[in-house]
Formats: sequence, C-alpha cells, structure tokens
Amino acid sequence: MKKAVVIGAGISGCTVARALAEKGYKVTVFEKRNHIGGNAYECFDEHGIRIHKYGSHIFHTNEQRVYDFLSRFTEWYPYEHKVLGLIDKKFVPIPFNFTSLEALFDKKESDYLKEKLTRVFEGKEKVSVLDLLNADDDKIKDFGQFVFDKVFVNYTAKQWGVPIEQVDKSVINRVPVILGYDDRYFQDKFQVMPLLGFTDMINNMLNHKNIKVKLNFDAKKLFSFRNGKVYKGSFPYSGKVIITAAIDEMLNYVHGVLPYRSLEFEFTNYNQPDFQAAAVVNYPNDEKFTRITEFKKLTNQIADTTTVAREYPMTYDIKAEKGNIPYYVINNEKNNLMYSKYKAEIEGIKNVSLLGRLAEYKYYNMDNCVLKALELADKISG
Ligand SMILES: Cc1cc2nc3c(=O)[nH]c(=O)nc-3n(C[C@H](O)[C@H](O)[C@H](O)COP(=O)(O)OP(=O)(O)OC[C@H]3O[C@@H](n4cnc5c(N)ncnc54)[C@H](O)[C@@H]3O)c2cc1C
Repeated sequence: MKKAVVIGAGISGCTVARALAEKGYKVTVFEKRNHIGGNAYECFDEHGIRIHKYGSHIFHTNEQRVYDFLSRFTEWYPYEHKVLGLIDKKFVPIPFNFTSLEALFDKKESDYLKEKLTRVFEGKEKVSVLDLLNADDDKIKDFGQFVFDKVFVNYTAKQWGVPIEQVDKSVINRVPVILGYDDRYFQDKFQVMPLLGFTDMINNMLNHKNIKVKLNFDAKKLFSFRNGKVYKGSFPYSGKVIITAAIDEMLNYVHGVLPYRSLEFEFTNYNQPDFQAAAVVNYPNDEKFTRITEFKKLTNQIADTTTVAREYPMTYDIKAEKGNIPYYVINNEKNNLMYSKYKAEIEGIKNVSLLGRLAEYKYYNMDNCVLKALELADKISG
C-alpha cells in the first residue's frame, strides 16, 4: 500500500490526510500538540462554554468544492458574521458602512456623503480606504482620511507593531469600506458554521481506516530533510511527506527565524448571559487589546454565563513565555527572500510537499487551506 506522512493536524494536514486516505494511501498524521485542529481548535472551558482557543474562527467560502467536501463531515448552521467597532464612543458596524457613517456624522453631512460616494463609485458595493484617500474629490478624500484615522491607523499599528506606513497595502485592503447598509463582515456565498464545532468536523475527517494520528509527537524528532532526501530516523524515507508545520523549524532555522506576529488571549467568564452586542467588537484606538470575542454569539450556545477573549497582539518569540505561537506571517521582501531559500531546499526533495499557512508562509483562510489540500492530494495521486 502507498504510504504518506502528514506533519501537523490543522485543517490543511487533516484535509490532505483524508483525501489521500480515500485515494488508497495509508496515512500517518503527526501532531506536536495534544489535540487536532491546529489554530481552528475549539474546546469547552471550565464553565462549559465552547471557546476558540487560538482566536475566533468563522467559516466562509465561495468555493463549492470546499463546501461540498466539508459538508461530508459536519452539519452546518447559518451564521453571518457581524463586527462592531468602538469609534468616538459609539459602537458602529465594521467594515465601515452607511450605518457607521450615519452614526458618526450629522444628518446633513451623512446624506451629502452617501449621495456623493454612491455617485462617484457608481456600480460598486465596496471600495478600499485607499481608493477613498486617492479620490479626486476633496470631500471623499476627507471622508477617507476620517475612516483611515479612526478605523485603520491605530488598529493596524497595534496589530502589526509598526506604523501603518510600514504595513503591506494588501493587509489594509483586507477590510473594505461598504457603500451601502450591508453589515456582514464577509460577502461570501457560503457563510455557515459547523454544528458541533471545528474540532468535531476535523475529527470526523480523520475517522478513516487508512488514517493514524499521533498526538504529542514532534515530527522533528523522527524526520529530517537534508541532501535532497527525507530521513525517517537514520534511513531515507520513500513515502510521500506533506509538511504543514513551520518550514524554518523543520530545517533547523538554517536560514534564520521567519518572523510572525503573535497573539495572547485573555479569557474571562462573566456570570451573566450576555456581554456585548456582537460576536466580535473591535477596539481600534485607546485599549491595548484589538478586539473582544464573545464565543456564545459565534457558536449559538445557550448558557447562563458567557466567556469572552480579549486579544493582545505581540512580537513572536519562540523562546518567550508569551507570544511563542506563530499566528500571522509578515510578508515583506526580506522575509519572503528568507522563505524562498527554505522553499528551494524542500523543492529539491521530490517526495516532500509544503502545504498550509506555516509551510507556505502565507496568510490563508480555512477555505483556502482545504482547497489547496484537495488539489495537492489530486496532484500526489496523479
Ligand atoms: C487569530 C486568527 C483568526 C483567524 N480567523 C479565521 C477565520 O475567521 N476564518 C478563516 O477561514 N480563517 C481564519 N484564520 C486562519 C486559519 O487559522 C488558518 O487558515 C488555518 O488554521 C491554517 O491551518 P493550517 O493547518 O495550515 O495551520 P495550523 O492550524 O497552524 O496547523 C498546523 C499544525 O502543525 C502542528 N505542528 C507544528 N510543528 C509541528 C511539528 N514539529 N510536529 C508535528 N506537528 C507540528 C501545529 O501544532 C498545528 O497543529 C485565522 C487565523 C488567526 C491567526
């Protein structure tokens, strides 16, 4: 029987494991944590509230193939994510939309701006804040500056630890300005959440006779990559190896440590049924944390108490007590160059593939991970 090893039991690793198992491969998944699911892991806290241990995860996709694949492992409930932000002492929809505009400007000014935005960007449902700043019209420019200053500048600096000018434009463009009243955070075709959570869905994926999962197992202790070969212990290994773990760690940091932004989550349980008006509330300006997530509003759980997480961005340092988990890749010229050296080494090994956010050093949403994993399994199996 054909053999494959998958390093990392996040959504990327578990999807490729399942797809290869169905194509007749005997697959072993190695995971160094004591649980599956990677950063999409959900569990119950000591108060019986289902939480997202590594930050709130919301499923959304336009990919039919991804939706169909995952639907084999979970039932769904409809969930359209809504986010509020505290701006000038008011909670307004984020992405900034016409409701936010009406809340923060007087009626005359907001009517004027709405009419002008609709006319200048005719036919567009959303624009980037950079589009507003670059507009020819002075009023739109001023409005763009308002949104930029109140919503983006401090949030981005907190999130990335550098002034906004040093952050890649693609990061700023991830959150649009909506030219209307749509207050959903995502506009994708499928916006649903797994009925019993992501861990349950991923666990069902791994439930296949050809898949073995080894938790608490650092794959680096068994596998090494050198001289154009992969070794299992001291012997060359000829099965397929899919790495979803951090590529620099796998190659002993020979080209340096790839930089990431890290996060710390402060979980608090309140003895009250509700805490805030939306599942996620952003605090762009005065507070040290960037946002508060109230999990019950994501998971639809009914309970007398509620648990929230305050999210503090920080520098990633693998040896530090806090901030030792790599969360967000920092794609810039220098870091991408370092990554390309790691990638070139792995590409020289014909039975090894890189998959997922840590191995590819890219920000991926979960649906991107699933699609890439399915495509990789197709390629491997020919
Ligand atoms: C705060 C935050 C919020 C997010 N919210 C969303 C969202 O709302 N919607 C969305 O679609 N996406 C979201 N994402 C993105 C999402 O987390 C990723 O797309 C997804 O989790 C990546 O899966 P992965 O399997 O590639 O990586 P991971 O989930 O990181 O899995 C990699 C696994 O490899 C394991 N591993 C590492 N080293 C080793 C080793 N040496 N040996 C064995 N195992 C190892 C790790 O322990 C981990 O379990 C969010 C990301 C962050 C940071």
